[in-house]
Amino acid sequence: MKKSPIKNLSASEAESLFAELGEKPYRASQLFNWLYEKNVDSFDAMTNFSKNLRSRLEELYLISPIALEERAISSDGTEKYLFRTVDGHFIESVLIKRDGSEEGRLTICISSQVGCPMGCRFCRTAKIGFRRNLSPAEILDQICQVRRLSGLKNDNIVFMGMGEPFMNYENVMKAAEIMNYSFGFHISVRRITISTCGLIKGIERYIDEKRPYNLAISLNDTVPEKRAEVMPVEKANPMTKIAELLERKFPISRNRVTLEYVMRADNISREDAGRLRKIFRRGRIKLNLIRLNRGDHGLTPPSESEVAAFVRELEIMNVPITVRKSFGDDIGAACGQLAGTRYGAANS
Ligand code: SAH
Repeated sequence: MKKSPIKNLSASEAESLFAELGEKPYRASQLFNWLYEKNVDSFDAMTNFSKNLRSRLEELYLISPIALEERAISSDGTEKYLFRTVDGHFIESVLIKRDGSEEGRLTICISSQVGCPMGCRFCRTAKIGFRRNLSPAEILDQICQVRRLSGLKNDNIVFMGMGEPFMNYENVMKAAEIMNYSFGFHISVRRITISTCGLIKGIERYIDEKRPYNLAISLNDTVPEKRAEVMPVEKANPMTKIAELLERKFPISRNRVTLEYVMRADNISREDAGRLRKIFRRGRIKLNLIRLNRGDHGLTPPSESEVAAFVRELEIMNVPITVRKSFGDDIGAACGQLAGTRYGAANS
């Protein structure tokens, strides 16, 4: 019989499992403590479980559904991990050591899919195409492995690696919920960010279900036709509709929605700043600016002075902004550069 990944279990599923095995429900919290807080890689290490229970679990379950294939370290300290799934796919995760203004914070950027179906022109993951969704266990184990291999404990998680989280909605939400369990990683919901290219159905469902994590939406343009050229998702998910949806439904009590904006030479004019202000005038948003990273996209990054001028315009218009520094460019670990390394054709 094929073993199933134990990290796919929610708390209630783990309780049912222990009930079936004739054990008390509190074993579930002990299990999460071993798997995530203590981050062990064998059932044998779970010393408050009986020998018999440990060997039953060993027979039925697998702890790690992904294995390290390669690790690269950037001159800025960023670490990129390439993992191989049990069925031979490749995914990448990135450990970022300084998070702009939040000095000293450690962030793990995780993948939600093998490849990606969204086809954004500036992103290398898109070039792989879509292979499959990741399971909750494959999502969670990226954090376990990066923590174990780096010896560092991160405080932040961003779903900004390979894939579109809202195309793998259930698994992503289940994984996020498990990250937040108090007897597991216990990562605060405020420190988990889910980033989408802007799928309206997903955003609406997310709001309706009152998911408590930070929401980030990749905007990247202010002119719909121009956005559609680089982000095909715009055609069926117009940004004007996203703005309307946020205005109509996003609760005032929540953290602002982050709009991510990849700056190119041709999308940061004074007019762009004005349009941005206008489209999102009533939504509670903040803007996260990042310069276009290298890739074979044929697009031009902006100069320092163009960036400075755009930032000034936005400041005058009172749009809250942060300018994000790019990390890990020399090892292909920066935003839009994750291409699973082994998928040769995707690398330029
Ligand atoms: N699919 C999700 C998450 C993965 S992309 C999303 O679209 O949000 C994570 C972020 O990287 C997005 O904001 C995306 O716009 C940005 N990105 C992609 N390619 C980039 C590049 N070449 N340079 C800078 N940022 C890039």
